[in-house]
Amino acid sequence: MCSLPVPREPLRRVAVTGGTHGNEMSGVYLARHWLQAPAELQRLSFSAVPVLANPAATAACRRYVDHDLNRAFTSSFLNSRPTPDDPYEVTRARELNQLLGPKASGRAFDFVLDLHNTTANMGTCLIAKSSHEVFAMHLCRHLQLQYPELSCQVFLCQRSGEESYNLDSVAKNGLALELGPQPQGVLRADIFSRMRTLVATVLDFIELFNQGTAFPAFEMEAYRPVGVVDFPRTDAGNLAGTVHPQLQDRDFQPLQPGAPIFQMFSGEDLLYDGESTVYPVFINEAAYYEKGIAFVQTEKFTFTVPAMPVLNPAPSPAS
Ligand SMILES: [Zn+2]
Repeated sequence: MCSLPVPREPLRRVAVTGGTHGNEMSGVYLARHWLQAPAELQRLSFSAVPVLANPAATAACRRYVDHDLNRAFTSSFLNSRPTPDDPYEVTRARELNQLLGPKASGRAFDFVLDLHNTTANMGTCLIAKSSHEVFAMHLCRHLQLQYPELSCQVFLCQRSGEESYNLDSVAKNGLALELGPQPQGVLRADIFSRMRTLVATVLDFIELFNQGTAFPAFEMEAYRPVGVVDFPRTDAGNLAGTVHPQLQDRDFQPLQPGAPIFQMFSGEDLLYDGESTVYPVFINEAAYYEKGIAFVQTEKFTFTVPAMPVLNPAPSPAS
């Protein structure tokens, strides 16, 4: 896995994307609002661009139309020859790659912040690809220090050797906000306000970096995936049980070997038969039933994040 270089120049080209999943309503409505009233996304040294990432899915209030957009930013999708039969989201991923990328090129946006909701009880979750993303790790630390009451958890989603596939991977640096629990297609004021506040603080952090603020090294704790667990199923593929009440809503809590994870319709409990403690996330996420995922197993680990280079104070762009 190669690590992204730490920015040596101010971040000028910044985007905030909502509606990547068309039924995750905080980002959908924030993006729609900012497209009409973008002043909230302006800072002294840059103006972030609002983007409604998946207009067709958003209009239909569905996660996606043909294919999960947030899995479509792989080189095989982005670089293959377009055909009339391409899934809508593959075509849209190529458009977004033109707008915000091209991925892994010098012309790509400096930063993309992608807004999501989950039906799982994950609170305020910050999703980056890996611990090697130094800028994103400092940003996560900044959010944790600004909002200790939110206990922001950091989830590093990219598995070793795996190609990045998320929307924000088209930019040089990125982060996803994953706020929950919120049902699909529902807008909750508390989560909407929390997301709006976090976006403002992300932009403030970029401004601080651009103005030459020092960000020293620190120790960070984060979670990374080690496996997924599907529901118990019948031979026909239907559910044979539910997430156990003792596991439901306990995202980021330790799951010990022998603890119940599913309650079978037959009445018996299914127990976690792993050998070590894991930290489940995305527990009972509605969008993952079709993916065969009842929850994602993670491990908690700590690592040192190096200091970032201090920039010379950035002059405001000429008007
Ligand atoms: Zn999402």
